[in-house]
Amino acid sequence: MRTGPVVERGVRAARSTLTSSATPRASATLRSYPRSTSGSPPKTIRPRSVQLECRLPINLREFIAEQLGAVLKDSDDAVLSLAEHADEVTLSKLARAIRRYSTRRAQQSWQDCSVRLSAFVSTTVADDNPVALCLACSRIDFGREAVAAHTAPGCVSLNLSEARRLSRSPADTAVEAEVAQHLRRLVEEFRRLRAAFGLPHFKLDCYVRGDLVTFAWRPLT
Ligand SMILES: [Zn+2]
Repeated sequence: MRTGPVVERGVRAARSTLTSSATPRASATLRSYPRSTSGSPPKTIRPRSVQLECRLPINLREFIAEQLGAVLKDSDDAVLSLAEHADEVTLSKLARAIRRYSTRRAQQSWQDCSVRLSAFVSTTVADDNPVALCLACSRIDFGREAVAAHTAPGCVSLNLSEARRLSRSPADTAVEAEVAQHLRRLVEEFRRLRAAFGLPHFKLDCYVRGDLVTFAWRPLT
């Protein structure tokens, strides 16, 4: 059985994974997490403020909520708050859930598309460029025809135009954060709407790393 310092490193890894880099490939830092722990309780390590890049992928959040359903509501803040305040046993469960999630995800096939957040930020009022993501065509299109181009019967598209923002500066991180949040809401709405109509949503997810937003989904066929 491992002792104190290792336990604490594990806890630190679990917390930092949740608060700073909870992506589908986040498990690397958790591999050394001990299965059973002993010794003094870990110090409370406050996560950094919930910044843009800390938002959890929707699928990871749902998976954690499923696994720890009794203690969690399905929201990023609930997961992050749990990571901050959890006792060792819960934190260990959380770390195991993240490992399981990463393992499962690695075994599945996924498609993805990435684009810079700045592509959604315009410095001119006149720019009302529509934006569409199409899961069937596996692309993000910008331009007047972007939405219309993906109305064919085989297309499964999502209009992202509402996420566009105006800014005086072309590199405005606060505005990019708003874009990211709006994109996330659009993805959540897409999932809810498809589900409401009994249609698959292909686990469409979006997450941000640096200034890049990535959309990921299960293949349509
Ligand atoms: Zn299409």
